[in-house]
Amino acid sequence: MEVKKKDIRALTKEQLREFFVKQGDKAFRGNQVYEWLWQKSAYSFEDMTNISLETRQMLEANFVINHIKVDQMQRSADGTIKNAVRLHDDLIVESVLIPTATRTTACVSSQVGCSLDCRFCATSRLKRMRNLNPDEIYDQVVAIDNESRLYHNRSLSNIVFMGMGEPLMNYNNVLKAIDKITSPEGLGMSPKRIVVSTSGVPKMIKKMADDKVKFKLAVSLHSAIDEIRTSIMPFNATFPLNDLREALQYWYAATKNRITYEYVVWDAINDKRKDAEALVEFCKFAPSKVNLIEYNPIDDGEFQQASSKAIDMYVSVLEANNITVTVRRSRGKDIDAACGQLANKS
Ligand code: SF4
Repeated sequence: MEVKKKDIRALTKEQLREFFVKQGDKAFRGNQVYEWLWQKSAYSFEDMTNISLETRQMLEANFVINHIKVDQMQRSADGTIKNAVRLHDDLIVESVLIPTATRTTACVSSQVGCSLDCRFCATSRLKRMRNLNPDEIYDQVVAIDNESRLYHNRSLSNIVFMGMGEPLMNYNNVLKAIDKITSPEGLGMSPKRIVVSTSGVPKMIKKMADDKVKFKLAVSLHSAIDEIRTSIMPFNATFPLNDLREALQYWYAATKNRITYEYVVWDAINDKRKDAEALVEFCKFAPSKVNLIEYNPIDDGEFQQASSKAIDMYVSVLEANNITVTVRRSRGKDIDAACGQLANKS
């Protein structure tokens, strides 16, 4: 009977050290292998050139390295790159590199498909197959960092968890991946350059506050009126706005971090003055920033971007109430890499 080999990257550094001691080797060998796995992103045991052949064969007999593979890479006219990433079980997720004049941002996925059902989002059409492992999230970042160096001559500066999936529904693995990304033994990135974007899971926002996480939080709000929000994000019926605001108040009290809201204005859905006023009312309890994001229609065209007059109205209502607001143009539309478009169509 064939024994299923264990994913070596599921082991902590300490567990790897203990493994080598049990094999009659030095604990230090665990450090060396750990460095190959995380800092050097080795794809195979063969790559570990400072480890003896005998040890590499022993590792090969006991473990696998479930590295992701970039199956297809598409480059947009505006420099955006979209990766279709194949996982060890042949499922596919997507991640995106977004270059601007001052930063290079990786937008990564946290689940295959999504557990939520936002009606404007292409990913919601794919049912959730499974959560990504910490190493699968980490690998997406490494792949994009390599592409950033190759095509834009600079390393990755920022990461947003805004790809496929709701990151707070895969909280433990997202946290473990961020630990690796920020660790000097991984990529050594500052947590302040990482944004976890959630559709608003109150219990998990409170947990993040209790866990004293150092990364930033963004909330995809899209409406501050329950009836409208539930019609476009049905899970709002389970986690209504009052619960979300209470969780955000808890977060702000614990972290004193400004809260960012992602917000799309759609024609005939949330483009009235009362919608903008409800948004002000919702976010005024703490320093806030609102990103008004350009919408990219998905195939059926049910949702359409609001007029520029409606966007201007939002900007003036928010500014009049001292709320920072930016209008974000979407990138990579020609390769379906823009917000809400990730649906394995490549
Ligand atoms: S917008 Fe985000 S949370 Fe909503 S269905 Fe799409 S991927 Fe999931």
